[in-house]
Amino acid sequence: MRKIIDGLKMIMAGTLVCLPVYIATALKGNTAKQLPRKVDAVTRASDEYNIQEVKPETPEKEEISVRTHLSPDFTPGRKRNIDAIVLHTTEGSGTGAENWLTTKDNVSASAHYLIMENGEIVMLVKPEDTAWHCRGYNSRSIGIEFAGHYDKPLAEIQLQSGEKLIEYLMQTYNIKKTNIRAHSELDPSRRKDPGKQNIEAILARI
Ligand SMILES: [Zn+2]
Repeated sequence: MRKIIDGLKMIMAGTLVCLPVYIATALKGNTAKQLPRKVDAVTRASDEYNIQEVKPETPEKEEISVRTHLSPDFTPGRKRNIDAIVLHTTEGSGTGAENWLTTKDNVSASAHYLIMENGEIVMLVKPEDTAWHCRGYNSRSIGIEFAGHYDKPLAEIQLQSGEKLIEYLMQTYNIKKTNIRAHSELDPSRRKDPGKQNIEAILARI
């Protein structure tokens, strides 16, 4: 019997302790007016005191799944800070590009990422290393190849993966949208990729 009474005392003490917590939460919640979506979240316990509990909204982090197939063509490290992303199209199939970009042969070329026709992202060179994808611009940039052609629209699923990857890289390396460049802009005499319609479709999502 004594134990039961002790238990009850603890529950009552618990109730008393809980109340300031709800009030504190509600006060905090009042400052979060810009988050109307979560204001409806009311717990049963706080209902008894007619206080709404507002949980601060945390930015949703989207998972990006990346397969790694490293290329032998790269320069370890960086000569300068990363501040740009250069976009390309492979002008052939994704599988073909993955093969030649990861094989040591007389074609010395690589990129950091390749986005396949089905949206799969493959990392070929680690961002902290220098890939060989854009003459004169390699040391400061991350190169992304989209499997496809400059004169054909990329698939919706590739644009979705590209958006996620580019936004992740922009946040991680503090890259400005104006520094997302088309290969054709930086080497106009030799390159046409990734094509006007493709770069516009990608930038429209960022
Ligand atoms: Zn290119």
